[in-house]
Amino acid sequence: MDISAKPLRRRAARDSDSEVVERTHNEGSDAARAVPGATVDIAEQMLGWYDRERRHLPWRVAPGVKADPYKVWLSEIMLQQTTVKAVIPFFNAFTRRWPTVKKLAAADLDEVLAAWAGLGYYSRARNLHACARVVTEQHRGRFPSTEAALLELPGIGPYTAAAIAAIGFGRKAVVVDGNVERVVARLSAIETTMPQAKPEMRRAAALLTPDSRAGDYAQAMMDLGATICTPRRPSCLMCPVAGGCEARRRGIAETLPRRAIKAERPVRHAIAFVALREDGAVLLRRRPDAGLLGGMLEVPSSAWDAAMPKAKDALQAVPIHAAWWTVPETVVHVFTHFRLEVQVYRALVPLNAALNLWAAPERCKFVPRHDLGTQALPSLMRKIIAHALQGA
Ligand code: SF4
Repeated sequence: MDISAKPLRRRAARDSDSEVVERTHNEGSDAARAVPGATVDIAEQMLGWYDRERRHLPWRVAPGVKADPYKVWLSEIMLQQTTVKAVIPFFNAFTRRWPTVKKLAAADLDEVLAAWAGLGYYSRARNLHACARVVTEQHRGRFPSTEAALLELPGIGPYTAAAIAAIGFGRKAVVVDGNVERVVARLSAIETTMPQAKPEMRRAAALLTPDSRAGDYAQAMMDLGATICTPRRPSCLMCPVAGGCEARRRGIAETLPRRAIKAERPVRHAIAFVALREDGAVLLRRRPDAGLLGGMLEVPSSAWDAAMPKAKDALQAVPIHAAWWTVPETVVHVFTHFRLEVQVYRALVPLNAALNLWAAPERCKFVPRHDLGTQALPSLMRKIIAHALQGA
């Protein structure tokens, strides 16, 4: 058995003027570590496996077919922090309604936010719309193809730029997301704790990325991470690159990547007021553009604080003078960095109910209950309304 890691050396020699080789010279130990003792050409194996076993997803094309950069971009933005299963119906609905970036740019932001409702991380939707406008107005409706130019667009960071360049335009780009980090950490047995391990993982990923079919290779790595090299119990027996995996050889695959022990998520508290008008309409308010859930609709609420607001502070958040009653049990919603517990109040208000000045009436509107489904309401607010109106 040849254990000389020849494929890696061969690739480095071919790329004598590339960024990869510069890294190889400067950081020779990393090159040696990329896949120590590798007996297989990882990229070749991955591409062969992708051709046979890839997931069939609505934004993907068959190997050899040119991808639509608009669909690649849309799917990548939607997939940030969201699962493939959750994204598919949203992707299909968006591409049916806005089949091109120009059509998306021509839509109202409110329509886009409403169509995005349920996907979470709403700043992505605002950036999506802003990006569509920039591409339409400044690039004549065509996405630029280089990572550097893509990085100039709203909402596009290094990962997304690399993914669009590779998958949408077939350029060689090193695409590193959480799945790829895990696969690379295991292939190369990187034992440094996260997040300090990130640069090491990126260097290892760069060494493995092939000159051609970088887009298919990136998608193959994503698929491997999602279906076989999973966070818990990786299915190494089914893995196309098991022969080149150092973590598997050492029996430490499941322990990688190494993570620092997480601090417990802090808890915040809030009070929300669901005002139901006699005709069945519900009072909604647009949140300020900046900040969490910016620009989305909410039911008027107190600030989200470490402690439950005191009664006199809660009164400051009441949108309408009415007989408010407490809805039993709190609504709990978990964000990435904290857990929110919301005490909900409900009131039936007359048709001519006057809004309190501090409720920012200019941002408020009553929306018929049967129209709530089409509003830009984040999941948290939908939960609160459903909780308040149960049995109403
Ligand atoms: S052999 Fe196992 S740990 Fe290594 S890449 Fe494959 S699935 Fe992951």
